[in-house]
Amino acid sequence: MAFNVHHVVNRDSKIWHTLATWPKIELHRHLEGSVRLTTLVEVARTHQIELPTYNVEALRPYVQVTDQDAANATAFLSKFNVLRRFYRSLDVIARIAYEAVEDAALDNVRYMELRFTPHALARQNKASYQEVILTVCEAVEAAEREHAIRVGLIISVNRHESVTIAQRVLNAALEINCPKIVALDLAGKEVGHSAQPFRPLFRQAQEAGLHITVHAGEWDGPHNVREAVEVLNAERIGHGVRAIEDSEVVRLVRERKITLEVCPTSNMQSGVVPYLQNHPLPDLAYLNVRTTINTDDPSLSNITLTDELALAHVGLGMPLSTLKTCVMNAAFAAFLPDAERDQLIADFRSEMGLNDTLYRPPHI
Ligand SMILES: [Zn+2]
Repeated sequence: MAFNVHHVVNRDSKIWHTLATWPKIELHRHLEGSVRLTTLVEVARTHQIELPTYNVEALRPYVQVTDQDAANATAFLSKFNVLRRFYRSLDVIARIAYEAVEDAALDNVRYMELRFTPHALARQNKASYQEVILTVCEAVEAAEREHAIRVGLIISVNRHESVTIAQRVLNAALEINCPKIVALDLAGKEVGHSAQPFRPLFRQAQEAGLHITVHAGEWDGPHNVREAVEVLNAERIGHGVRAIEDSEVVRLVRERKITLEVCPTSNMQSGVVPYLQNHPLPDLAYLNVRTTINTDDPSLSNITLTDELALAHVGLGMPLSTLKTCVMNAAFAAFLPDAERDQLIADFRSEMGLNDTLYRPPHI
């Protein structure tokens, strides 16, 4: 049975409401996993997409992890096979991107880095990578104008697809030169797909001024975290929870001041961590690894960032002071120009009532 955060976290509880009022930062959220169910139904009707049902509640099991699903990668990723069918036009992509930002703002997320996979989105509606990237940039800028949130965009390429595809996507992103685009991410199937062939591409991205984050140590072991850091120069690691299995990798991550983008519910639903009490987030935080708390795919998992913070507190036993450190770690790890990151840090310290000398990330 797949993990359901709502069996652990009560949205009517006092602690949930307290965390809902916290200003928050999201560093790891996929656009493709951030689609409102009501929007799916409307898009299906407009674009004559055949669905098993046009009722939102009945549609839920096809696009969202539910109690009936197995807790493994196959069940988790199968939802994307249905979700992918919805990206029929650039207008749909624009709407989904706008609403993803709006939903984050409604959850009091003040800064978000939203990632998307141009190759997957372009394939569905036969648009060019440039068109897709530009559409997301413009939609996000429009949402920023209407809501109290700032957004950066991360371009994802998949390690199980060719370097040629990734190169074309990067070229398109660099040609567009949208200031919203802040980083390049390596995603996709970890097992059997080394990051090594992507080394020149990630070097090029870094030289062009993009930051680097890499999905690693999720579906494969700590050696992939080491590879992401040493081969691709990753500044942040998507998930990285399996670093805990190798003390040398934990030491490497600490020494290099790498930030882990941890997504607890996602790890439980995809079977990366079998039992909540085994989730390594509290231990990683205790070991002074820079940890942050994120959603990964909020609509797929039926969660908000507030739910994930509440889960860390109620389900993993992390005190509120540690959660504040996680939020501040995210501010320090934001892919923003130095002056703007400093401002974000100052704003968060002030709003959370934190002293200047407290809540520095470990080893600064
Ligand atoms: Zn992810």
